Amino acid sequence: MPLQDSEAIVLRTYPLGDADRLVSLITRTQGRLRGVAQGARRPKSRFGAALEPLTYLRLWFYERENRDLVRIRQCEILESFLDLHGDYRSSLVTALAAEITDAVLPEREPQDAAFRLLLHVARGLRETRQASLALGYFLVWTIRLAGWLPDLDRCSSCGRFVTQAPHGPSVASSAGPEPLYWSLSQPGLHCANCRRPGMRTLSTEALAAARRMLAAPLHQLALDANSPRVSPEFEAYFLDMIEHHIERHLASRRIYEESR
Ligand SMILES: [Zn+2]
Repeated sequence: MPLQDSEAIVLRTYPLGDADRLVSLITRTQGRLRGVAQGARRPKSRFGAALEPLTYLRLWFYERENRDLVRIRQCEILESFLDLHGDYRSSLVTALAAEITDAVLPEREPQDAAFRLLLHVARGLRETRQASLALGYFLVWTIRLAGWLPDLDRCSSCGRFVTQAPHGPSVASSAGPEPLYWSLSQPGLHCANCRRPGMRTLSTEALAAARRMLAAPLHQLALDANSPRVSPEFEAYFLDMIEHHIERHLASRRIYEESR
C-alpha cells in the first residue's frame, strides 16, 4: 500500500496495547479517520508531542488492507496548541470541540469546512483566551455545517419573522424584539404564539449572539468591546441539539459546565 500524506488535526487518542496509541484525526484529504501510532507511548517515541489534541500536523500514513484503521508512519507538527492545555477553561473547550468533531463527522468523508472551523477556533482561543465565546462560535458553526441550524429569524411553525423587518438590511445583525422557544421533540424555533407547553426559551440576546457569530470571524468578535455574550442558556440549546443528533451524552460537557 502506498504511503499517503495529508494535513490533519488530532482529535482524541486512546492507549492501545502496551505501547501504541489509537488516534482519531480529521484529515484534509479523507475527512475523519482513525489510525494506529505504533510505539507512541514509549518515552522516546518519534511522535513526541505531535499527538496532543488539536495539534495541526502533516501526517504520513498507510492504508491497511481490509482494516478500518490506517497505520500512522510519521507526523510533522505544523502548529501546536499545547499552551492551551495550561489554561483550564481553554483546555476544557479544546476537549469538548475535539469530542464533538469526533462524534458529528462521518468517517472518511472530506469535510474541509469543519477542518477549517476547528483550526479557526483553536487559533482564536489561543489568541484571545475567551473560552465561552470560542465554544459558542464553534457550536453555532458546527450545527450550521451539519445542516441542523433552524432559521434564527422566524418561527418554524407559522413562518412569522421575529426580527424587525423581513427584508430590511438590518435583519442579520438585529437583536430582534422577541425570543423564540424550542424543544428537542419538535424541530425548529417557535414564536410565543406557537409555543407549546414544556418548550424552553432562547432569549433575544442568545439569538443575537448566534446571528453575529454567523456573520464575523471569531477574533473580530473577540476584539469587539461589545462582543457577543455566551450564556448557559445559549450553550444548553446548542449542546442539547448536538447530543440529540449524535444520540448520546458528551463526556466533556459536564466537566465544562461544572467549571463555570
Ligand atoms: Zn409562530
